[in-house]
Amino acid sequence: MGRNCGGGGMSRKIEKRAEAEVSGYFRKLMRDLESPREVRRFGNGWFAGFFALLFSIAGFFLVIALRFPEWFATPELEIVKEWSGFRTLVHGVLLASYSLALLSLLLRPRKVLGVSALVIGIGAALLGGANVQPEETNSWGIFFGLDFFIVNLLVTGLMFAPFERLFPHRREQRLFRNEWREDLFYFLVSTMFVQILTFLTLAPSTIINANTNSWEAFRAGVADLPWLVQFVIVLVASDFLQYWYHRLFHQVPFLWGFHAIHHSAKSMDWLAGSRMHLIEVVLLRMVTSLPLFTLGFSPSVMQAYLGFIYVWSSLLHANVGGDFDRLGHWLATPRFHHWHHGLEQEAFDVNFAIHFPWIDKLFGTFHLPKGRWPKDYGIPEDVPRSYLKQMAYPWTRKPKDQE
Ligand SMILES: [Zn+2]
Ligand SMILES: [Zn+2]
Repeated sequence: MGRNCGGGGMSRKIEKRAEAEVSGYFRKLMRDLESPREVRRFGNGWFAGFFALLFSIAGFFLVIALRFPEWFATPELEIVKEWSGFRTLVHGVLLASYSLALLSLLLRPRKVLGVSALVIGIGAALLGGANVQPEETNSWGIFFGLDFFIVNLLVTGLMFAPFERLFPHRREQRLFRNEWREDLFYFLVSTMFVQILTFLTLAPSTIINANTNSWEAFRAGVADLPWLVQFVIVLVASDFLQYWYHRLFHQVPFLWGFHAIHHSAKSMDWLAGSRMHLIEVVLLRMVTSLPLFTLGFSPSVMQAYLGFIYVWSSLLHANVGGDFDRLGHWLATPRFHHWHHGLEQEAFDVNFAIHFPWIDKLFGTFHLPKGRWPKDYGIPEDVPRSYLKQMAYPWTRKPKDQE
């Protein structure tokens, strides 16, 4: 009996110890990722370690996606996976991760980046590597676009991270800046549920389309317009709807509780735009896609718009400089949207448009002082930091009098 009790205490101790080890390890990893630019000069193994980690994670999830196709498969990515070069690509990604990890271990006194990349890479190899065969699985009906998340993150990151480096607004801001983990989580959630989001987004349009037959001639007329004309009409129509939707979320206190999450970002970069309450995302896409899906635009216009809006909103939030004093009056630029996120008084309730600043001019909310940028970003209220608390924020928030 005595031994049993002692054993229980011992295993609890080991458990606690393991827990402390794991959290200590993650702290180390995060600290190394977030290390300031001065201490990660070229040649000290930080970049090798970072890219080793990136490639090993990407490779790991690609192997998982190949092994358990039913869990992860995003239908749109099937074509990619069936492409004959796909496995070679996965192989290349894993090889690159091994060699970079070794390079980082050689160059860098801190080993945490290189070791992590190596362990994840070996994990991918143990799962079968690039030649992995699909496991026989029962379809659980679970849909997680984890593969889509990885592809999306790589594509968007490889597009914007160098762009921000070359044309920065704030040169001192790092890729792993304050609260990057929170924003990455938002990015993960919104891309993982892309299928569910798309379904919800389309629901109102589907209902309208099913109940209106008299528009057929009109829709056919729209589909006959030149491609570019259709695209521009979509941009203008959706931005008009978006403008009023956005303004409403700033003015109605309960709705502001949702939108405050988006404005709680204190640093602006391509990832910061992902920070948005899930309910707001769904409603926003429902509203802005109404004209798109009900007025008869051709499918290629719709696809182009959906891809475009994604890149566009990353660009608007990006840490990219350039004043664009003239262009900024007609076409939304990063500085135009950065003013929307400004912490100072003059930045409150301005620049609601996403594509066309002249919509703000039309309704008297335009603000683009020549050559100036906001000093700080955020809002003068305390938004909780954890994801779940942010989801609950519209209901837990205590409205202030001054708003
Ligand atoms: Zn806003
Ligand atoms: Zn924004």
